[in-house]
Amino acid sequence: MVTMADGEKRPIPKGTKIEELAKQWDKEAIAAQVDGTLFDLSRTVEKDTSISFISIHSRKGLEILRHSAAHIMAQAVRELFPGVKLTFGPSTENGFYYDFDYDRTFTPQDLEMIERRMSDIVAKDEPFIRKEVSKEEAARTFGEMGETYKVEHLEELPDRVSLYRQGTFVDLCEGPHIPSTGKVKAFKLLNVSGTYWRGDARNRVLQRIYGTAFSDQKALEEFLHMLEEARKRDHRKLGKELDLFSLSEDAGPGLVIYHPKGAMLRTILEDFEKKEHLKRGYQMAIGPHLLRLELWKQSGHLENYRDKMYFTKVEDVEYGIKPMNCLAHMLIFKSQIRSYRDLPIRYFELGTVYRHEKSGELHGLLRVRGFTQDDAHILCRPDQLNDEICAIIEFVDDVMKIFGFEYEMELSTRPEKSIGADEEWERATEALVNALKTKNLPYEVNEGEGAFYGPKIDVKLKDALNRRWQCATIQVDFFMPERFDLAYVGSDGEKHRPVMLHRVILGAMERFIGVLIEHYAGAFPVWLAPTQAILMTVTDRQISYAERVYSQLVQAGVRAEKDFRNEKLGFKIREAQVQKIPYMLVIGDREVKEETISPRKRSGETLKSMRIEDFVKQIQSEYPILTKS
Ligand SMILES: [Zn+2]
Ligand SMILES: [Zn+2]
Repeated sequence: MVTMADGEKRPIPKGTKIEELAKQWDKEAIAAQVDGTLFDLSRTVEKDTSISFISIHSRKGLEILRHSAAHIMAQAVRELFPGVKLTFGPSTENGFYYDFDYDRTFTPQDLEMIERRMSDIVAKDEPFIRKEVSKEEAARTFGEMGETYKVEHLEELPDRVSLYRQGTFVDLCEGPHIPSTGKVKAFKLLNVSGTYWRGDARNRVLQRIYGTAFSDQKALEEFLHMLEEARKRDHRKLGKELDLFSLSEDAGPGLVIYHPKGAMLRTILEDFEKKEHLKRGYQMAIGPHLLRLELWKQSGHLENYRDKMYFTKVEDVEYGIKPMNCLAHMLIFKSQIRSYRDLPIRYFELGTVYRHEKSGELHGLLRVRGFTQDDAHILCRPDQLNDEICAIIEFVDDVMKIFGFEYEMELSTRPEKSIGADEEWERATEALVNALKTKNLPYEVNEGEGAFYGPKIDVKLKDALNRRWQCATIQVDFFMPERFDLAYVGSDGEKHRPVMLHRVILGAMERFIGVLIEHYAGAFPVWLAPTQAILMTVTDRQISYAERVYSQLVQAGVRAEKDFRNEKLGFKIREAQVQKIPYMLVIGDREVKEETISPRKRSGETLKSMRIEDFVKQIQSEYPILTKS
């Protein structure tokens, strides 16, 4: 008996190809989910199962299409460049890549040649054929082909592995894949960059070719247009032009130095966050950056997270530099006896953490080694879990609206390797699902993708270019309260275990600022702009009045700058426009005489001359939330 996604049950003979079922249920299907596992359409039904189809138009479907395009690219590269060795070729948020070991850098001409060969492979419409073999057989196959990286990777895999073949090309892969190469209707190779085997700078340099693929040409064209726009908005480029921050090899890779304007931007965000958290019943907490090694042992970090941690030793005592903020918060909870009436307790910290990300994976502000999270830990009774999760979701919604972000929710459920009783997992997952349903929010399910200690909701925001970014997460945890023996006294007078929620709203401030820069293309709204107004004199005659205006604005809390240089006004205006400052205040003889200022918006619109107090009011009226509180 096969249960379809819509709940319909059908008697299906064993050995029926899933492809046959797809023809009846979903003609756009390119793969299927069978009892939660991804399957190729060419596989067969062997027992009573439940099946849902993956449409080529779904996110998952697109991922499968793109990963298949990576195989096609690898085939083309292998055919065109003898001696090349293959490593990994996954799909990414916006496309795919494949890493090759080759003794020279691929040129733009090479990419064109690879694209042409890929078109030939697509035109042949070769089927993707899956074959399960023993690890030894796979090692022999790849050994004979000289694919040493594949052989090395095989060592980490279970005894049975799957191979995928299209035409004469074979790759080691879990799948699934599209039925045949012809399903790739539109693709483009984008660029080449250097990377390291396994992202580790001590290893050999590899060539990473990036590409993207879609199921139709129009979607590809829209994407390429978006990419062009994204290039103009690159936060690394704007970060330099607007003098917000720097990252340098000399200072240390992945370590951000905030220049005054970047530091201002972050301070504005942090002040906003503190206020919003206090309004919602959170308490501030601050933990130390180092904690004794024993604590990290107790928390399980040493066992599960050691590779990403930094350590130091002082007076023969070993310390771990915190990669997460949870521990201090648990110690605060434990510092007193807690009653059921005290719960929920919500600790909020702008907690700076350090994680050893591989140097090959660092990227501007988006992936760094030192970052500050808007982190909170909520300790509550099991019966409070639902309300707490709902409140967090509302919090996320409020904040995303303020920045103008749309967002999507993803629910990650119990992985195979996990701890805790079934009923606890059920209760936690149900709490997350209930909260999503209460709030009427659609969500995607990532089966088995939760942490080993609990399920979670991830929030992916969509920026002005419709790109998705991970920001908030809400994670249920039964494990840490157990390990640290956290307890509260219940109404029955007995000791009970609280549930812990780990959650961030913006996530890492660094990453969020990177996303904000690109979202606004550097033109921050007035309430976020590090400099809100710049004063400009026409000649030196106006300087003393302009100084007076400047100090009046600063006293009123307006973030103002002055440009009293002996330069042409047009030149000053152009510079301020490059700096994307929301208001330029031009001061000439008339303004001095009338004791006014003439604001000009960065869009070019000029406002009537006004009194300084009125301009301050104008600025304040552009604070969306801060005025509300
Ligand atoms: Zn594959
Ligand atoms: Zn935590």
